[in-house]
Amino acid sequence: GAIPALGATDTSRAWFDRARRSLAGGISSPARLTSTGPHPYPLYLREGSGARVRDVDGNEYIDHLISYGCAVLGHASPLLAGALAPLLTTGTMFGTCTTEEVELAERIEAMVPCAELVRFANSGSEAVQGAVRAARGFTGRSLVLKFEGHYHGWSDTLAVSNRPTPEQAGPAAAPRSVPHSPGIPPGVVDDVVVCPWNDPDALRTVLAAHRGRLAAVICEPIVANNACTMPAPGCLELLRELCTAYGVPLIFDEVCTGFRTGPGGAQGLYQVVPDLAVFAKALGGGVPIAAFAGRRALMEPLAEGRVKHGGTYNASPLCATAALTTLRALADPATTGWMEEAGRRIMAAVRRAAHDRGVPCAVQGVGAMFQVVFTPDGAPTRNYRELLAADRGRYDVFRHELLRRGVHVNAYGAACWFVAAAVTEDEVAATCAAVDGAFAAL
Ligand code: PMP
Repeated sequence: GAIPALGATDTSRAWFDRARRSLAGGISSPARLTSTGPHPYPLYLREGSGARVRDVDGNEYIDHLISYGCAVLGHASPLLAGALAPLLTTGTMFGTCTTEEVELAERIEAMVPCAELVRFANSGSEAVQGAVRAARGFTGRSLVLKFEGHYHGWSDTLAVSNRPTPEQAGPAAAPRSVPHSPGIPPGVVDDVVVCPWNDPDALRTVLAAHRGRLAAVICEPIVANNACTMPAPGCLELLRELCTAYGVPLIFDEVCTGFRTGPGGAQGLYQVVPDLAVFAKALGGGVPIAAFAGRRALMEPLAEGRVKHGGTYNASPLCATAALTTLRALADPATTGWMEEAGRRIMAAVRRAAHDRGVPCAVQGVGAMFQVVFTPDGAPTRNYRELLAADRGRYDVFRHELLRRGVHVNAYGAACWFVAAAVTEDEVAATCAAVDGAFAAL
């Protein structure tokens, strides 16, 4: 049926019209574009506090996007404000070594099982590039195995088979490598081997076929970019076992899971320790900082300077201080425990509403990050191809109905909801009520 219009968002619409005249496509990142559904322009958010945000028209929302999980402590965290304010008068960046980066590396080593040595970067894409460079430098090989639908950033390295159509990618059991965009050279695509996720037989076949030629296997341990597709029981363990058997470094892309699914990320949660891991988002609490870290042997060529990595902005005092403050807060089990509990309550509310209204849908993920997927039979997705079979249009309507009820979530059904540690009991209850109302309207 017809979807009622949002409350006034005319100022957002006007800014988007203006943006298109100077910004390519009116945006700085395509995930911000809501080209489908009834709300074909992005919301321009002006301010936030805790788990609340306000748009340029003055509408207030409870925010379960929280900048894709970055603002893990909530927006305008007083902790961060207190830590960062002095730097505005003492200097935000010197381009030299900083004491903060040392303390931050030590803290990451203490929290993350695989982290024996750390390097900092500014975005997930950059840190993925660093980890892949380290693995290639260590092994002297070029090929990297990734899983269909997993996302590892926009840079050439792994921008292959992020979101291919089945026509492009061929058979589900043996997908082809498909460049994500024009402009990615064929050589780059040829260096990426693609495998279906949660498929032990396919994994065994692909690893055997490329024996002795793989520089790394990389995965999202919880596939945040495939609507929080969870690892099938034993899947990560098998991956670890086979990588060890074949002598291939295993990289966990923990850009979304890191410091969110518990202090040790997904590797801590599942007790499966990769050789290298990548962190961003929650690490910085809302400033641009990323890291890659791993076993000493893998990071040693970098430590010796044989394998190159650098960056003017890496671990500036501003970003390292924000990260240090964030990780100190996340080391408190009460903080992460509440974030997880709050999300679980919302997940339970979605399941209840869906059951009551007889709407098939899967609610998948952990409390701190999850997604609602309208699969045909309500079964959770196991891989990218199953996600393609879900009803995107219905997610658009659901999201819009939530927005009308003051709840802001991910516009893109293949990504996920992120919960802020600062969310209050009342905001969780209000979210659950909005979920119920949204399902009634579906
Ligand atoms: N890896 C994963 C799992 C991600 O979700 C993302 C971003 N959504 C990236 C890498 C790339 O990070 P960034 O956007 O900071 O470059």
